[in-house]
Amino acid sequence: MTQKQNAVNFELIRKDGRARRGRLTTPRGVIETPVFMPVGTAATVKALKPDDVKELGAQIILANTYHLYLRPGHEVVKKAGGLHTFMHWDRPILTDSGGFQVFSLANLGKITEEGVTFASHIDGSRHLISPEKSMEIQNALGSDIMMAFDECVPYPAERKYTEASVLRTTRWAERCKAVHKDTERQSLFGIIQGGMFADLRRQSAEQITALDLPGYGIGGLSVGEPKEIMYEVLDSCTEYLPQNRPRYLMGVGSPDALLEGVARGVDMFDCVLPTREARHGRAMTRDGSVNLRNAACTEDFGPLDPTCDCYTCRNFSRSYLRHLVMSKEILGATLISIHNLAFLTGLMAEARGAIDENTYASFKSETMRRYYQKTQSFLPEEESFSGF
Ligand SMILES: [Zn+2]
Repeated sequence: MTQKQNAVNFELIRKDGRARRGRLTTPRGVIETPVFMPVGTAATVKALKPDDVKELGAQIILANTYHLYLRPGHEVVKKAGGLHTFMHWDRPILTDSGGFQVFSLANLGKITEEGVTFASHIDGSRHLISPEKSMEIQNALGSDIMMAFDECVPYPAERKYTEASVLRTTRWAERCKAVHKDTERQSLFGIIQGGMFADLRRQSAEQITALDLPGYGIGGLSVGEPKEIMYEVLDSCTEYLPQNRPRYLMGVGSPDALLEGVARGVDMFDCVLPTREARHGRAMTRDGSVNLRNAACTEDFGPLDPTCDCYTCRNFSRSYLRHLVMSKEILGATLISIHNLAFLTGLMAEARGAIDENTYASFKSETMRRYYQKTQSFLPEEESFSGF
């Protein structure tokens, strides 16, 4: 039997230390990596038109299987011609498996070998998502990259429970692979779990990569653990992942985590942080986080970030943005979301340039120094939690 072509193909162009410069070719275009993927939870990057998302430099976006399954329903999206047509986005889309939301957002019922039962956070209706169901939903959505259905363990978690969940996640990934037939249209990525246990992460990485999938996600991080632990666990994963496949660190989006992730060989990131922060009136700038509610912005007629050339920074002042935030005008969320996403996509473009020039280590330390010298604590802990 001839091996069917994968929908995506990853080329590792060069390395600078462990940081990787790569290129992911998909049916809907080429993605230069490392890349940050804006999150379009309910088939919309909140407050933005697809044209805005393109203009700010997004190469690929993420959409949530759990949310679209519950509302409007994957069959509706399928009838509309798939997610790309439905939401008018012609660049690549990655869909998550629904696993993370089932474990974090829904009222969790029972986890069995078959799958997970839960009650909808919208209307309390009861559902079962199994690996096969997750594949059916993602297939109907028609995303370019699908994620295998996994069990995301909370932090902290007992070792015994984590051991069992690693094995279950592997069996679920095997079932996802078994029912995934349309490999030329959609690519299936596996997900490494294992909680905060280095040996279980290694075990999960070895089992999941044995499935020879076109890419691998690292799940179950940024779930409330201290950042140092996240970086240690990340180290214990990437070491066991193949060089010729993209690595995707799921649900991580603060500037330091992106830069540390790239330094550890991660290629792809996603997070709701930049758009959620924007809706709270907070902007990411080269010199740290700016809270537009701060009175110092009242008569600041300069741009949010003088080094940024996004639509917002080209046309609006901090004073005006603060006025929008204080007046609760919708445009405030739109303009700050444009800037925050442009900031992170721009940060990744600079990271790619630095890897190309073999200067990633100094780029990272200088960027971190400048960003965090004024930002003592980027966010309260509960808000650094991400993924939906
Ligand atoms: Zn800007």
